[in-house]
Amino acid sequence: MSGSRQVAIEAGVEQALAGFQLPEQLGFGVTMIPMMYCVEATDGVWGQGRLMPYGPIELDPSAKVLHYAQEYFEGMKAYKVESPHATLFRPERHAARFATSARRLCMPEVPEEVFMEGVGTLTAWAEPYIPGNTCQSLYLRPFVIGTQPNLGLGVSSTNTFLVVASPSEAYHAGSMRVLVERNDTRAAVGGTGAVKTGGNYAASLLSAANAKTKGYDQSLWLDPMTRTNIEELSGMNFFAMIEGRLCTPKLSGSILPGITRDSLIELARSLGHEVSEETMSIDELLADIGNGRCSEAFASGTAAVVSPISAVGDGDGTEYALPEDPGPVAMSLKDALLGIQEGRQEDPFGWVRPLDRHFYPASAQVA
Ligand SMILES: *Cc1c(COP(=O)(O)O)cnc(C)c1O
Repeated sequence: MSGSRQVAIEAGVEQALAGFQLPEQLGFGVTMIPMMYCVEATDGVWGQGRLMPYGPIELDPSAKVLHYAQEYFEGMKAYKVESPHATLFRPERHAARFATSARRLCMPEVPEEVFMEGVGTLTAWAEPYIPGNTCQSLYLRPFVIGTQPNLGLGVSSTNTFLVVASPSEAYHAGSMRVLVERNDTRAAVGGTGAVKTGGNYAASLLSAANAKTKGYDQSLWLDPMTRTNIEELSGMNFFAMIEGRLCTPKLSGSILPGITRDSLIELARSLGHEVSEETMSIDELLADIGNGRCSEAFASGTAAVVSPISAVGDGDGTEYALPEDPGPVAMSLKDALLGIQEGRQEDPFGWVRPLDRHFYPASAQVA
């Protein structure tokens, strides 16, 4: 049931939408739907949600988010490929991870009902503008910021939950070259690596810039304690096929538990693959690429779904090319998962969710 909450539709939303057109070239996260959802909390109590025209937000220069990174976010997608109506992929999982991020940052949780209201209302109103070719979607970015104006270090007493959305192509279509990061680490033991908070990404950019200058697309992070085991990429989880087994680093506390990762594990098992979540030594992986035991590697995340990895570079200048690029397992898993997400294939897992009727504008025709 929808409970008693109702979203206020602010002046200007319908006008902003009426004047909006999808550009020819979508890219990823470039074009924004011209409206956003916003709700404020004081001392953890969320007020009324509002749908308003997209635009700059007013923030006091001493707001805690700007100084102490009081922020957490999600990244998820709505699809409209096979039907006239949008569906969300595993939204309750995203809501649950959002709450986990909140707790780690000592910030207020957004209750599932409020999370769904934000994501659902924005998606329902944006529905006519969701591109409908395969690999296209509406990328949704829910986030919470600590807005209390006060330079004292402490938990923000006021917070704002916003949802913005971008009609997008799949992120990074080609294969990736990744560089093993032997020095820096992405996340600390006991730190915030397992939650989606802006600070993690700020800390990853220097390594990424170094990788770029060496001709690589991304850093491949190792565990912060020993720097011997593979963790993940800066925004994607890591998989490799080793002697016919699909292997991925087991969640260590500093790895982000990807919902795509989780979905691929379940999907791969249902397709008959042996899947192993294990400690993966980087030196063993490089040796296995060299001796052919590792046939392919890929990364997973909401934005790209599956991105094949063509080569792994090591800090000393050696490079290990994957024998199969793109690998057949990566491609078949991507096809299968995208087929479910886009409604082209049966969803035996119950991952795909329609939007509640009441999120739509009163004028919308919803079957
Ligand atoms: C978001 C993210 C992922 C992928 O998670 P999905 O739920 O699959 O999108 C992996 N690693 C990091 C560091 C991330 O931020």
